[in-house]
Amino acid sequence: MTSTFLDLKINENLIEGLKKQGIEEPTAIQANAIPLGLENKDIIGQSQTGSGKTLAYLLPIFHKVDSSKREMQAIILAPTHELVMQIEKQIKTLAENSEVPMKSISIIGNVNIDRQIEKLREKPHIIVGSAGRILELIKRKKINAQTVKTIVIDEGDRLLDDNNIGVIKDVIKTTQRDRQLMVFSATINDRAMTISKELMKDAVVVKAEAKEKLNPNVEHIYFLTEQRDKIEMLRKLIAAMEPSKAIVFINKSDEIEITTNKLKFHKLNAVGIYGAAEKEDRKKALEGFRGDKYQLLVASELAARGLDIQDVNYIFNLDLPEDPKEYLHRAGRTGRMGKQGLVVSIVTAREEAQIKKFQNVFNLKIAQKEAYMGAVVEPGAGKENYKKPVSPKK
Ligand code: AMP
Repeated sequence: MTSTFLDLKINENLIEGLKKQGIEEPTAIQANAIPLGLENKDIIGQSQTGSGKTLAYLLPIFHKVDSSKREMQAIILAPTHELVMQIEKQIKTLAENSEVPMKSISIIGNVNIDRQIEKLREKPHIIVGSAGRILELIKRKKINAQTVKTIVIDEGDRLLDDNNIGVIKDVIKTTQRDRQLMVFSATINDRAMTISKELMKDAVVVKAEAKEKLNPNVEHIYFLTEQRDKIEMLRKLIAAMEPSKAIVFINKSDEIEITTNKLKFHKLNAVGIYGAAEKEDRKKALEGFRGDKYQLLVASELAARGLDIQDVNYIFNLDLPEDPKEYLHRAGRTGRMGKQGLVVSIVTAREEAQIKKFQNVFNLKIAQKEAYMGAVVEPGAGKENYKKPVSPKK
């Protein structure tokens, strides 16, 4: 069933605003979640990264918030600074394009609280940020949680884990009992599901259609190599595939710097983003990558969580994640909005078993390939079977 934003009862000015952003048709998660969001239902929404979940909760919020009132009416909680900024940017874009006088503010930790307090005096309608700092401002009576009608928890499986659940619950407790709660995440594990249901009155679980779970535009391949030759293999593959923009994933955040330096040593145009880095450095790295200054972004799952980077056509896994869901999370960074993508895993013989596991769990084809004389070929193929390099269609 396809629907339009008009079918979903979205206001015309918002529809016009979305059009200016090039958004014409709702995605599956939007079509499923928006009507429930508008009905004030508590929602657990599961949908892969890049499938439009931000607007799935923002559009109902735009409907419900009364922008003529000088009142804080919605809180959106997100786990990373980048994600907070991304969400706030989407709010500002939509407000501007649809000419709604919606005011929003981002509230993140580790920055000057006095400036935030100053900005809160303008009584923004939507507050996007990290739970810890928001809670502090509620306690200091700078945020009035009593007028909040909707709370969104983005990246729910992360924010509802042991490290974060305490503060999240504390924020929720400061609001009225009849407020709406929406939890969104690419994957929702059993624990997050149970906790969400506990926090909600009458939870409705919304999933994007199954076909969206595995993106048909993304192809998966892997290459076998020794651990010590992984970087060299990556270098060969980059030379053969010439990706315009690729993310190189490793497992451990504290190895990002060393991996980035190794890639640079091999004359690869790489930049790393890592949690421990200064915020400015992180921002610069991301801007550089978005703006085509760098070809490769080295990241861990944690560092890259929630980032929306357009036009990434290749993902390289220099390490394989333990958790199959994480493999899909990483793959979700490419092939966005109908574009083609390729996920390339560089694995040792020991890790190959993990590849088999991912294939079984998701009923997914991950084909083995080999690098041969500057090209990507079928395993065992010699010169006579020479094949052109694999490259995703643009
Ligand atoms: P998200 O999953 O919310 O991170 O969204 C991923 C990207 O998809 C963002 O760049 C959005 O602007 C874009 N997007 C969201 N909804 C739609 C839609 N209905 N049609 C086309 N693009 C969309």
